[in-house]
Amino acid sequence: KPQIVWLRRDLRLADQPALFAAAQAGPVIPVYVLDDAAAGSHAYGGASRWWLHHSLEDLAKSLGKRNSRLILRRGDAVEELTKVAEETGAETIHAIRHYEPWWRKAQGKLAETLDLQLYDGNYLFPAGHVTTGSGDPYKIYTPFSKAILAEMPPRDELPDPEAIQLPDSWPDSDDLADWHLLPTKPDWSGGLHDFWEVGFDAAFDRLNWWQDHVADYDESRNLPSKDGSSRMSPHLHFGEITPVQIWHRFKDKRSQGWKTFEKELIWRDYAQNVICQFPAYAKESYRDGYDDGLWRNPNRGHLIQEDLEAWQRGQTGYPIVDAGMRQLWQTGWMHNRVRMICASFLVKHLLIDWTHGEQWFWDCLVDADYGSNGTNWQWVSGTGVDSNMFVRIMAPLSQSEKFDATGYIREYVPELASLDAPYIHDPEEHGCRPKNYPAKMIGHREARERALAAYRQMKGK
Ligand code: FAD
Repeated sequence: KPQIVWLRRDLRLADQPALFAAAQAGPVIPVYVLDDAAAGSHAYGGASRWWLHHSLEDLAKSLGKRNSRLILRRGDAVEELTKVAEETGAETIHAIRHYEPWWRKAQGKLAETLDLQLYDGNYLFPAGHVTTGSGDPYKIYTPFSKAILAEMPPRDELPDPEAIQLPDSWPDSDDLADWHLLPTKPDWSGGLHDFWEVGFDAAFDRLNWWQDHVADYDESRNLPSKDGSSRMSPHLHFGEITPVQIWHRFKDKRSQGWKTFEKELIWRDYAQNVICQFPAYAKESYRDGYDDGLWRNPNRGHLIQEDLEAWQRGQTGYPIVDAGMRQLWQTGWMHNRVRMICASFLVKHLLIDWTHGEQWFWDCLVDADYGSNGTNWQWVSGTGVDSNMFVRIMAPLSQSEKFDATGYIREYVPELASLDAPYIHDPEEHGCRPKNYPAKMIGHREARERALAAYRQMKGK
């Protein structure tokens, strides 16, 4: 009997336990279903759709080299997979387990009528693998991370399936071009093309490069002007590469750089652990009071649209924030430290609800990930399960100096390209703000006091 492999964010051939198991059981029908309705507000945004197109193209090509195919369907995933099963006589669906709430729902529904075989494959360890002394899943990162480190090594990685048997006939497939995942009018994807190579070969090329650089990660990761992090995030999100493959690749695990990097991979596992416990985590604050008591919300009579747009367009008058927001827009990615600065600026300097920021990142990031994006936004905002960070207000101007963002600002804010440090970090303060660069939306001290006062008021202090 043919075996269906349901592909989602696991677009690879190697270390793909669902594909591996299916290939051992019979002829394989690989299927990808684009199900925008189920994901609702978290249907893939523009940048992710661009990546998805190229990743699907890459996978289809690799399957084609083995005379296999990638079947594309659009619509409700449960209905489409059920149809493919009826059309081909398949009874078993193999899939990697995913934790996004809409996919957990679909997994549950499919299992009611078909033989759904789920495999762990996209994380170091499956969510829920480690638990607290009382048997509950962890809520806080640090003890979670310690528990995961105690479990190392992760599972062995799997090779490509040696042979992929072909079915007698293929079910119908959509044409990828008809999905219109790529932007056309206007085509804003030039910056993404320049910045990225998509697909699993590209992921391994970058990994080879990263092996020679990880030792410096402890310092380089905080310097936005340097290419100092792995840039594996979109490859990991779409499952072109797995953290298990990455983990096994690094034979020398003694450097401090590796140890810090490993903890970042564990943050990724942690985020899934959180959304498993709190499925709406990317949409709703975990802590009460903020939505009605802290943010400048339209429903509380505040007009925030102009401020939100200035932030989105990188026109805040804070060079590091503007460089980050423009890097995001042009390349679909933003440096991690700058993500923290930009997120903090939105929620603390502008007192705008983090969900607006989450949605903008969701649309613009090529690595937009329901778990990681939600967890990080709630972490910065102090609204989440971790310790409350709201009163730790980042100072964008001193962060910019401390981590020497000069080259970064020059690259992404051309209006300031002729300025040197220290002027470039705060041209307004030094009296050298060019006319075509905006004044600060709000002064840092004023914003800090406003945020802390609003926080005290919300807490009734
Ligand atoms: P590296 O520094 O090389 O880290 C290696 C890998 O570890 C990353 O590829 C990523 O998979 C994982 N990782 C690193 N930091 C984190 C973290 N804090 N949380 C979860 N995983 C992490 N990351 C996403 O993958 N998707 C998102 O949607 C996302 N949204 C974010 C939103 C905000 C407000 C912030 C502050 C951070 C967000 N991050 C997100 C986390 C982090 O910024 C990116 O993973 C990282 O910048 C990606 O670059 P890199 O691959 O070079 O990371």
